[in-house]
Amino acid sequence: MKAIRMIEPDQPLQLQQIPIPSVTDGDVLVRVRATGICHSDAHYRAGRSSMGEMPLTLGHEVAGEVEWIGSKVTNVKAGERVCLHYNISCGDCYYCKTGSEQFCETVKMIGHHVNGGYAEYIAVPARNAIPLPDEISFEEGATLMCASATALHALHKGRVKDGETVAVFGVGGLGLSAIQLAKALGAVEVYAVDIKSDKLELASEYGAIPIHAGRMDGVDEIRKLTKGKGVDVALEMIGLPTTMRQTIESLGVLGRAVIVGLSQIPLEVHPYRTLIGYEAEVIGSNDHLLQELPLLIDMARRKILDTSQVVSQKIPLDADKINQRLDDLDNYTDDVRAVIVQPG
Ligand SMILES: [Zn+2]
Ligand SMILES: [Zn+2]
Repeated sequence: MKAIRMIEPDQPLQLQQIPIPSVTDGDVLVRVRATGICHSDAHYRAGRSSMGEMPLTLGHEVAGEVEWIGSKVTNVKAGERVCLHYNISCGDCYYCKTGSEQFCETVKMIGHHVNGGYAEYIAVPARNAIPLPDEISFEEGATLMCASATALHALHKGRVKDGETVAVFGVGGLGLSAIQLAKALGAVEVYAVDIKSDKLELASEYGAIPIHAGRMDGVDEIRKLTKGKGVDVALEMIGLPTTMRQTIESLGVLGRAVIVGLSQIPLEVHPYRTLIGYEAEVIGSNDHLLQELPLLIDMARRKILDTSQVVSQKIPLDADKINQRLDDLDNYTDDVRAVIVQPG
């Protein structure tokens, strides 16, 4: 089969012909129909993250059709449409057994530690394959598996409840999902903070109140719009110290700031003014859980969550085109979300 693979760090991915993956009796073999090209993939290709053994097929946002199932598989059938949870966990260690499988002692991410979905076929343990309803396209199914799932987990970490207010700092794919999901979880008002007008326009189409941080101070504006109270939950989706600080400073009494954007830069906060004085919490959010995906997929099926506008480019399984998209992501020249689409 064809696979687009990382041969060595900081080099273009290459097309290789490799055998269709072998499967054990607990696995499923999936014919890949759509694979999202994610910003993380650009980091992986550049060698900024420790990878599994190379050559390695990238791609962790995968949807397709079940081609073959192992003899012990009961949750999906051959021919069924599925999307794939990207973390392969053991199901048996302390973290798996206590509901935090993203911290599994032997967790392996597809397209990062083991072969992923920039290929014609992929094999995964059956529990990683989740039925994808007919109402959701393969492209949307693929992108649900990363940004949208991470947004839902962040909202769960922030314990958003009915009647609360939410601020979302950064309105990319993560932020757009977070806006819609926050409303579905009961938020009465969602503020979207970004410096790009087109993104803010899209955010307001999904019901958020846009705040242009290039033209005004995001924190001041949130205070003004909430009559001085601040928000109950604020999500940081960018990974910059400034927006992290603003996320925390926009909180009201008992507010929860959830940090999703990645950064290595230390974060300074004023303990009394921003935390103690409000009994505020700062929470890290990492990945998402398999158990969160059925709810997410159901929300997409009901069109409570619409990611159709997130996917704006479809490309074939072609090394040059994929490398070009990864270059764009690396250089921030364009943050259009591309998906590799393969005909059935
Ligand atoms: Zn991703
Ligand atoms: Zn485990």
